[in-house]
Amino acid sequence: MAPDAKVLACSNCGAPLRTLSLPGHYGSTVQIDLCAPCHLVWFDVVESARLSGPGLLALIGEMAAAQALAHQPLRPGIGCPHCRQPVRTVHNRTRWGQSLQLECPQRHGAWQTFGQFLNEKGLLHPMSSADRARALLRPEGWRCVNCGGALGAADATCPWCSAVPAVVDVARLAHALDPEGATAAHAVHETGTRAAALACQACGAALPPDPIWHCAHCGATLTAPGLAEAHRQVGALGPALQAHAERPAPRVVQQRLAAQSAGLDRQRERAAAMQAEADARSGHHLEPVEHGLDMGALRSLPRWAAWLLGALLVLLWWWF
Ligand SMILES: [Zn+2]
Ligand SMILES: [Zn+2]
Ligand SMILES: [Zn+2]
Ligand SMILES: [Zn+2]
Repeated sequence: MAPDAKVLACSNCGAPLRTLSLPGHYGSTVQIDLCAPCHLVWFDVVESARLSGPGLLALIGEMAAAQALAHQPLRPGIGCPHCRQPVRTVHNRTRWGQSLQLECPQRHGAWQTFGQFLNEKGLLHPMSSADRARALLRPEGWRCVNCGGALGAADATCPWCSAVPAVVDVARLAHALDPEGATAAHAVHETGTRAAALACQACGAALPPDPIWHCAHCGATLTAPGLAEAHRQVGALGPALQAHAERPAPRVVQQRLAAQSAGLDRQRERAAAMQAEADARSGHHLEPVEHGLDMGALRSLPRWAAWLLGALLVLLWWWF
């Protein structure tokens, strides 16, 4: 949202949207509007991929805090907060599968529920019956990943917001926060993405059949049955992510430079290949040709035909 723009209202409940100014990459600021009781976010620019680690962590924290509020059911035919035209559901393919968002037909931006946002980032897993059983054993019960509402054992969808119950993949969330591995030594990164597994996938220790969501043996974090818990677990990375954003470690700077120079090498190779092709097409390799050949006609021939013609001419020259 531009600084001179007036405050947008939520198209679902009418309350003013809260504009979050979140840190993006390389000192930029990404602005995202959030309606806490509707559990909705509005992106003026259709992509949210420019959030830095601290920016994504702050957004997850805002979403987790908003889940303490009772959910406002979404009305059908919700509009764009800029032009009020009804938004349309758009399905996108991501590397994690299907995602969806509610886009303005005038391309002003898109709504996403918290659940849709997390799903698009590949941070949610469907719940196994073991996940459900363990979630229900916890003192705080089992919480909807979109609205934070309490769920019962038999709920196929959330009774408050209709979202499909899911667990947060904490290891993947940690990776999304820190794709460059600046905090790789932290136990939260240990993989163990299936809570249903009876052994910790990070160290192989058998997991006790009680509601423990990280491995007591190695400390690896498994899935979390709610956004608030996931945020608590990755919150420990906060100071290191902030330090990394301000001053990346020399190892990470080297990684970035290596990635850049690999890109340059690829570009150089491509340029050389294109030059060679252009040379071949313009007949540079056929220069030592006698007999007053029409080079213009030769240029329009495919390479193999030009070579064949050349060989034939040499043969004829030998015979006569
Ligand atoms: Zn609202
Ligand atoms: Zn619009
Ligand atoms: Zn819900
Ligand atoms: Zn373990």
